[in-house]
Amino acid sequence: MFKPNNKLDGKVHLKHTDGYGSMVDAITLSKDQGEMEKLKIWTETALDNADYIIHQLDQQDISQYEKNVNIARFYNKQINDNLKEHKKFNKKLAKKITCKVGCSACCYQHVYIADFEASNIVYEIKERGIEIDLELLDLQSKNEDHKEHEKLPHEKRKCVFLGTDNKCSIYNFRPLSCRKYFSLDDPIKCNTDTVQKIKRFQSPLAEIIQTGIMNKFEGGTLATQIKNQLIQYEIFEASQGEVD
Ligand code: SF4
Repeated sequence: MFKPNNKLDGKVHLKHTDGYGSMVDAITLSKDQGEMEKLKIWTETALDNADYIIHQLDQQDISQYEKNVNIARFYNKQINDNLKEHKKFNKKLAKKITCKVGCSACCYQHVYIADFEASNIVYEIKERGIEIDLELLDLQSKNEDHKEHEKLPHEKRKCVFLGTDNKCSIYNFRPLSCRKYFSLDDPIKCNTDTVQKIKRFQSPLAEIIQTGIMNKFEGGTLATQIKNQLIQYEIFEASQGEVD
């Protein structure tokens, strides 16, 4: 029986990752043999954790929807704990993080999420009565290819959960993709169309956990995953969301 390992402590730093790398990239790009070994172990642990949580939830007499919510809560906590540890260990790096409330440049980018995250988000927005722009969600889901998304006018790339106050309306249950990286650049460079060029820190540990997840669960773009869930829960009419 696998046990969740929450002891991924963030004590390894990849000097060669470009900040966008997948687990495989992270391992390939690391030139240090010791780092590579640790990364492999952590990768296996991340995959074991996914197996463990699926196995545990399979024993319970709850719906798939409830299972998904539980999986999302488990991983949100795991990523948060790891990032907290990472920042504690590397105080110098933590001081360089320039993200602050109201920053929103990252929220105009393509975000990928697992299906269980979509369930959790839809659960929470229903509970809290959070409203979203369904027309924009539909448009984004019809332009889910990365290049198509990039071609949309800037205001149409805005995440449907970004409020008029530039705050995330689902901050406490936002996707793992939104939790795992931070800007290290001058905030003046945010809120522009050049967000891709911002110098950023992306935790390799969070990346590994997420890659483990993406190997085990279905996923897709935030817009499509959320729209599918809303259709399932009859919040979004299927006819409204027919993808050509
Ligand atoms: S879910 Fe929240 S943090 Fe993530 S892109 Fe949307 S508004 Fe930004």
